[in-house]
Amino acid sequence: MGFSEDDRPHDYIIRIISPPHCARGSKGCEKCAEAAEVQIPCLIRVFLDGGMVARPMMEVEVDGALRLLEFDIIKRFTTVDEAKAYAKDNGISNIRI
Ligand SMILES: [Zn+2]
Repeated sequence: MGFSEDDRPHDYIIRIISPPHCARGSKGCEKCAEAAEVQIPCLIRVFLDGGMVARPMMEVEVDGALRLLEFDIIKRFTTVDEAKAYAKDNGISNIRI
């Protein structure tokens, strides 16, 4: 393999988002359209090095500046309280829920 995403500069954030069902998006996929209606607190890994635009991107505030970053959804929380507890236990400060 050689190239690992863990080697890329990244950060963990928590946001309430509508996790996409797949890469097609709500215009091309019925399940994505359904997914877009649901807002879920998620642990998200964002990549800080720009990278390839072929992946889903989201706007994230990093150090006070809004940047468009690639992201992966690492974990979905059932409740906001669960997300807050996770952030506290894991030292994640960039949360907006
Ligand atoms: Zn889909």
